[in-house]
Amino acid sequence: MIWWATDATHDPARISWVDSANGHADFPIQNLPFGIFSPAGGAPRLGVAIGDCIVDLLACANADLLPKAVATACSGDTLNALMALPASARRALRHRLSDLLSDSAHAGRMKLHLHDAADCALHLPARIGDYTDFYVGIHHANNIGRQFRPDNPLLPNYKYVPIGYHGRASSVRPSGEPVRRPKGQRKPPEADAPLFGPSARLDYELELGVWIGAGNKLGDPIPITDAVDHIAGFCLLNDWSARDFQAWEYQPLGPFLAKNFQTTISPWVVTAEAMLPFRMAQPARPQGDPAPLPYLWDEADQRHGALALTLEVSILTAAMRQRGDAPHRLSSGPASNMYWTVHQIVTHHTSNGCNLNPGDLLGTGTISAPERGGYGSLMELSAGGREPLVLPGGETRTFLEDGDEIILKATAAAPGFAPIGFGDCRARIMPA
Ligand code: MN
Repeated sequence: MIWWATDATHDPARISWVDSANGHADFPIQNLPFGIFSPAGGAPRLGVAIGDCIVDLLACANADLLPKAVATACSGDTLNALMALPASARRALRHRLSDLLSDSAHAGRMKLHLHDAADCALHLPARIGDYTDFYVGIHHANNIGRQFRPDNPLLPNYKYVPIGYHGRASSVRPSGEPVRRPKGQRKPPEADAPLFGPSARLDYELELGVWIGAGNKLGDPIPITDAVDHIAGFCLLNDWSARDFQAWEYQPLGPFLAKNFQTTISPWVVTAEAMLPFRMAQPARPQGDPAPLPYLWDEADQRHGALALTLEVSILTAAMRQRGDAPHRLSSGPASNMYWTVHQIVTHHTSNGCNLNPGDLLGTGTISAPERGGYGSLMELSAGGREPLVLPGGETRTFLEDGDEIILKATAAAPGFAPIGFGDCRARIMPA
């Protein structure tokens, strides 16, 4: 089977009897993302977003509305069992849900299992065993590298190795959960010794999250041609970063306390199946760049492995909130500014035999565009804190202040298909 082929569930003409789904910016019937929600007074359970509503999957399974092969994976309070299923089972569930939510003959039964999203709480979608963060945003790597090494921003390994580090799974939190400003060691350039205290250079990082589906056994690498079978879906990911701690602690072993105090993700898992219409060719490497080594090279991946997604960051400061202002957009750019595809990072991660498990989370690394309007962090937008940004209303920012809220959004669009979105990935900074 051709993995990038679309089907009836992607038909832009398909509409739902859930009226709010039709033309919905994030969750039209062509999306159908999975998540964990609790209705008012209820326990966490599996759900699917449709317009302004959430379908209770366990209730549907109990009412014999879902395929037998997936029904048992719909109980519990995480998506891990669903993610572990082969893509064919997830596809069968998607087809069934698309039918149940488009054919009005099912509306009467299905309405019993539908909740208003506004009355529900959203949780982490999976028990995340491991979280790994990559560094595939080449323009971000260039922009940051230039601040340290103006003549040689990229290190020699960058164009051969998808650079990454193991992050901290325990502090990944869903959208909406506040972020306490971390305390830590920083050493101002003029100081003789480091200080311990609240970060003075707190930043966000705009990233795409990749959810691992079926895992691999320890010792069994995932070939690049099979990587697509191991990705369950995608989310937005904000890798909050204390730049002052980072600069002092990162050598020689890499990021640690500058990153692991919290990571915020959007709670809906936009499935690999929902993203099929938004596959695109991986942009050609600039003349003179080395070709990927053979274990990272696959023709189909090069032709279909990138994502037609527009990513966006907005800020809402305490003063803006008080005035009732709308969030101010800081940047917007395409997710195709990734030097490696999501399949290449999965294959590279396992190339030494390292095992991935269902519900593991990979971050792509900050995705920046070459031009300023697409920079994915304040470190880039404020040129390392040297050039403050002026916000509407006159406030300025180099790094985040207490009370600031950062909102990430993603929209997938392609000619001839209904656009879909990821929902919000947002969180507010609380005092240390
Ligand atoms: Mn990062």
